[in-house]
Amino acid sequence: MKVKTAEFVISNTEVSKCPTDGLLEYAFIGRSNVGKSSLINMLVGNKKLAKTSGRPGKTQLINHFIINNDWYLVDLPGYGYAKTSKTNRIKWEKFIAEYLTTRKTLINIFVLLDSRLEPQKIDLEFMNWCGEKGLPFSMVFTKIDKLSSTALQKNLALYKKEMLKYWEELPPVFTTSSVSSFGQERILNYIDQINASFK
Ligand code: GDP
Repeated sequence: MKVKTAEFVISNTEVSKCPTDGLLEYAFIGRSNVGKSSLINMLVGNKKLAKTSGRPGKTQLINHFIINNDWYLVDLPGYGYAKTSKTNRIKWEKFIAEYLTTRKTLINIFVLLDSRLEPQKIDLEFMNWCGEKGLPFSMVFTKIDKLSSTALQKNLALYKKEMLKYWEELPPVFTTSSVSSFGQERILNYIDQINASFK
C-alpha cells in the first residue's frame, strides 16, 4: 500500500465522540518513548503527523488520522506503571481501556516494544490483557537500527519465549526502524490485506 494522504481528523477522550463512519481502524500503543510517534510518521511518510516526545502532552488523547480516505490510524496515549505501596500496576487512562474494548471498528492493536530491551513486565501484562479480552494485536519492535542483529534476535527470542508461556500461538511480529523506514512496507501491506479482506 502506498500512503497518498494522511490527515488529522479528531482527538478526544470519549469513545462516543470517535468517528462513526464505520471505516476500519488500527491503533498504535506502547510505553512513552518507545518510538510511537516516530513510527507513525515513518509509516505515513510525514514527519509531523504525530507529535514526537519533544512536544509532550499532545498524546494523552485518542488521535484519529485518516489514511487514503480509507482507514483510520489511531495514535493512543502511552501506558506506564503506577507505583503503589505494594505493587506496580499498569497505569493508564480509563478511556483507553474503554476505547480498546468497545470500539467495534478497531481491527488490530499494534503494540510497540523497544527492541533494545529484554521483555518488560508492563508490555507483557498489556499484551496478556489484550489476549484475555480477545483483542487482536501485533508485536512491533522499534528502533532496530540501534542494536546488532545478534542482540535483536536475542531479544526477539526472549519475547517469543515469554509469550509462549501464556499463549499457544504468537501474534504477528514486525521489526521496524523509523530511521531507515525498515518495516514500513510490511506493516502497510499487512493493513492493506486486512482492509481488502473486508471489501
Ligand atoms: P513516543 O514517545 O513513543 O512517541 O516516542 P518518539 O517517537 O518521540 O521517540 C522517542 C525517541 O526515540 C526520540 O528521540 C526518537 O528520535 C527516538 N527514536 C524513535 N524511533 C527510533 C528509531 O527507529 N531509531 C532510532 N535510532 N531512534 C528512534
